[in-house]
Amino acid sequence: MDARRSGIDGLMKKTHIIVLGAGFGGLELTTMLSETLGGAVDVTLIDKADHFVFGFSKLDILFGRATPDAVRLSYRDVAKPGVRFLQETVTAIDPAALRVSTDHGVYETDVLVVALGADYDMEATPGLADGDNDFYSVAGAERIRELLPSFNKGRAIVGVCGAPFKCPPAPSEAALLLHDYLTTRGVRGDCEISIVIPFGSPVPPSPDTSRALVAAFAERDISFVPGRRVSSLDTARRVAVLDDGSEMPYDLFLGVPKHRAPDVVLASGMAEDGYVPVKSGTLETRFPGVYALGDVATVGVPKAGVFAEGQARIVAASLIAQLKGGESPATYDGRGSCFVEFGVGRVGRVHVDFLSGPKPTGTFEEPSAALVAEKEHFGSSRRVRWFGR
Ligand SMILES: Cc1cc2nc3c(=O)[nH]c(=O)nc-3n(C[C@H](O)[C@H](O)[C@H](O)COP(=O)(O)OP(=O)(O)OC[C@H]3O[C@@H](n4cnc5c(N)ncnc54)[C@H](O)[C@@H]3O)c2cc1C
Repeated sequence: MDARRSGIDGLMKKTHIIVLGAGFGGLELTTMLSETLGGAVDVTLIDKADHFVFGFSKLDILFGRATPDAVRLSYRDVAKPGVRFLQETVTAIDPAALRVSTDHGVYETDVLVVALGADYDMEATPGLADGDNDFYSVAGAERIRELLPSFNKGRAIVGVCGAPFKCPPAPSEAALLLHDYLTTRGVRGDCEISIVIPFGSPVPPSPDTSRALVAAFAERDISFVPGRRVSSLDTARRVAVLDDGSEMPYDLFLGVPKHRAPDVVLASGMAEDGYVPVKSGTLETRFPGVYALGDVATVGVPKAGVFAEGQARIVAASLIAQLKGGESPATYDGRGSCFVEFGVGRVGRVHVDFLSGPKPTGTFEEPSAALVAEKEHFGSSRRVRWFGR
């Protein structure tokens, strides 16, 4: 790739960049490229969906704080110089040939960025797909939302079926928000809530955040089961079986399915151990001209939107530097901040740093109403930046 080609009155072919996946990473990457390079490059953004939904909006749908329509952000509104959005399903990726096939055609490119996120492997947990048991997809959150009004007594489990999973604090948030929901309805005293997660603490890199969450569980009589994952559901007996063989009966199951890279990525030969290995500092894959970022990649950080976004900024800066001939950007630092819903109208925040020291570290900001407003701004600022509204 040589950007100077594109500077010669457009007589020479513009550099073509294909970005697969218009999620947190793909949207931020294409926005930065467009802001800096405008029409000087030819960026194609491909996604099978016609809209984007923030991960945290699934909790809003689950607890009736928002309707699915209200949280859908249509890709029709992505109008950026130099960027063309195609609603197509990627069916094959040939990273060595820099070639992508979709259900509509075959595309060759100079640079390929794979930002296809992580899919849910419902089959990996027997019984999980037999009923309304996941709240990590919009459809799953909508279905459990329908069940909640008739859940008046019994046992609820928030259960994680495998690691890594998106947004490590989200199961804790779901348990705390479920407590509020049942309290508001006046049925909390007749219900038990348990949370099963495969880590030893809710947010391992930040002991302060974990302590605050464990204290919040204890105050609300939420039973915390660390270091375990749900390995199957016996839906006939309504029992969750954990990975040590122990059983937990349930009347309501709010599950986090096991994750995996999309099939098309697994079939491409890019993945190792389920995800695409990259150089953490640059997000380069072992294929020249091919980057991978966000949940689809193994970067050494958790799977969360803020990390996908931070990685996208590094890839964008690197491409801009290559195209404009500027200085190489800093390498990716693995830092990010996540909001954590504590219920009763308060949100905390954890700041984590995964790559700069010998081991991950994190600091905690106490839950407050001020952070509720900051979380709102986090979403609305990205909505405006990516979708112009
Ligand atoms: C309940 C919940 C709460 C969360 N809360 C937070 C939070 O508070 N903060 C935070 O930072 N993160 C949060 N997350 C995590 C966050 O949503 C993800 O980590 C983030 O979206 C990952 O970004 P990405 O760009 O890697 O992938 P995604 O945003 O998942 O985007 C991938 C895109 O690829 C597309 N795609 C996949 N396969 C194909 C194909 N074959 N062809 C075409 N297109 C395809 C998909 O349609 C999708 O649009 C939460 C997640 C959940 C489930």
